[in-house]
Amino acid sequence: MASSPDKDVPTSGKPSNFLRQVIERDLEQGTYADRKWGGSPGDRQHHEDGVPDPAKIRTRFPPEPNGYLHIGHAKSICLNFGLAQDYGGVCHLRFDDTNPEREEQEYVDAIRDAVHWLGYTWEANGTNHDYHASNYFDFMYRAAEYLIESGNAYVDEQSAEAMRASRGDFGRPGVDSPYRSRSAEENLARFREMRDGKLPDGGAVLRAKIDMASPNINMRDPTIYRIKHAEHHNTGNKWCIYPMYTFAHPIEDALENITHSICTLEFEDQRPFYDWLLDRLAEGGLIETPHPRQYEFARLNLTYVVTSKRKLRQLVDEGHVDGWDDPRMPTIVGLRRRGYTPESLRLFAERIGVSKADSWIEYSVLEQALRDDLDPKAPRAMAVLDPVKLVITNWDELMGEGYLDPCTAPVHPHAPERGKREFTFGKELWIERTDYEDTPPKGFFRLFPGNKVRLKYGHVVECTGAIRNSSGAVTEVRGRLIADTKSGTPGADAIKVKGTISWVGAADGIQAEVRLYDRLFRVAQPGARDNEFREEINSQSLKVLTSYVEPSLASFRWDDKVQFERHGYFVAQRMHPHASRTTDGPVFNRITGLKDSWAK
Ligand code: ATP
Ligand code: MG
Repeated sequence: MASSPDKDVPTSGKPSNFLRQVIERDLEQGTYADRKWGGSPGDRQHHEDGVPDPAKIRTRFPPEPNGYLHIGHAKSICLNFGLAQDYGGVCHLRFDDTNPEREEQEYVDAIRDAVHWLGYTWEANGTNHDYHASNYFDFMYRAAEYLIESGNAYVDEQSAEAMRASRGDFGRPGVDSPYRSRSAEENLARFREMRDGKLPDGGAVLRAKIDMASPNINMRDPTIYRIKHAEHHNTGNKWCIYPMYTFAHPIEDALENITHSICTLEFEDQRPFYDWLLDRLAEGGLIETPHPRQYEFARLNLTYVVTSKRKLRQLVDEGHVDGWDDPRMPTIVGLRRRGYTPESLRLFAERIGVSKADSWIEYSVLEQALRDDLDPKAPRAMAVLDPVKLVITNWDELMGEGYLDPCTAPVHPHAPERGKREFTFGKELWIERTDYEDTPPKGFFRLFPGNKVRLKYGHVVECTGAIRNSSGAVTEVRGRLIADTKSGTPGADAIKVKGTISWVGAADGIQAEVRLYDRLFRVAQPGARDNEFREEINSQSLKVLTSYVEPSLASFRWDDKVQFERHGYFVAQRMHPHASRTTDGPVFNRITGLKDSWAK
């Protein structure tokens, strides 16, 4: 059983899907029951010398460490680690680093962090299943030589253009390369020359020998090795030939004893090659059997964001956002800084499920998952985001000069055991600027001259008007306290009011910077019309306000979540190095608004 730091993921009661059905069928039929595990990835012999595989199934999450993970990867993580967890299996973390590019340790670390933060682990049965695909280069080379020796691969020295031209297309079969009929000995010798650096980049490739007339173009002798005189971060200059992804990936799965290799739909056409390759290697006794099988699901497309590392990198590099962890970014680090919780992302992944058909998921589904996670957890508080002062002109007379009236409110309305928040009501209060109108529009029940309103958890106040500056802006709203109306006291409801507003005492309110984030793009499917996605960036996606929050928030620390009554869910923020701040007080990011605003 995979151990997990997160015990509150339910293992039952999840809706079924085609992947669960496949796994359940395999478990029932014992498809993989007899396989052995050598304690680490390896060839057939290595595993045969091992023990019966303690993992009932093996899945993997195989990112390329070339950027930060995004919400689409979160779906894949929840899927692969979640299935392993639910079925007594193990999920491997595998860095797919077969491309000789510089691997950035920053990305490797961030990927490990993201998986842990989401609540999953790759440690199981005393083994740390954290692998690098480049550690399998020796085996991949051996597999290539085996294919050559068994007549299943050949070195092609045609130019890239000639190769492309002879591949044919959907209506036209391909044409055999003049190099296709070379003998195994010749091919082996030439392949070794490729390996030994005797040929320049592009001088030759190794191709699988399958069928140039196959209706599936991926089966028309696909390239499996190419020459690239480049240093690799892990293997240095040992290799100047590197395996193609479509050749490497099935082998990585096979060496790791993966049972269910789950990938996105664009690999569907590669599945015949995946099976062809592993069938050949199994015939040769090179890999453990039965070999892994590939299953495809639709990748996540989320409205109002882009989910491509390349595009996300452009947003960062060109300064459209403050970094990979900008709270508007759909990266896992960005969502985390925005205030999304691991639970909410897992809930989101579960709700969207897996399907075989591409579709777009509404951004609101993500927001709803966050609300559903935080609603029972987050403490409540009052905050006035766009403040204007309300002065109670009869306060001194009724309550005494300088008097501060203690008020309380539940920390959580459905959990009285969590206690009460305390704050004071006094002569001067902060209220929302939008809660006052000289002349009320239809349906406006808040402050306007002559109207009575309840200040939540406090008293009823009758508005008497407002003071304006020379440019006409309201600088102060005025009102009179109605005696004996304090919330929770006998007779408080004798006066009926139609409106209730939130407020913060001027005496004990804390000044705070509040950052209201909006969608990063103006359109639901940025760049979907083959246009430039950067032209659809929402230039108004961040609004920074100087606000006031109630004193209970003084004890908040970084990453604490709160529901500001009426305004939505917020997270307490540390300062970001790129950001400028408007106050010395705390900073709150709005994660998302409330579904229904209670403002009347
Ligand atoms: P990108 O195009 O953003 O670079 P990628 O697929 O190239 O994404 P990888 O690092 O290769 O990124 O992906 C690791 C895993 O995450 C793969 O198994 C891939 O299928 C999965 N994945 C990536 N994007 C999505 C997505 N939008 N929805 C679901 N799974 C995804
Ligand atoms: Mg990729």
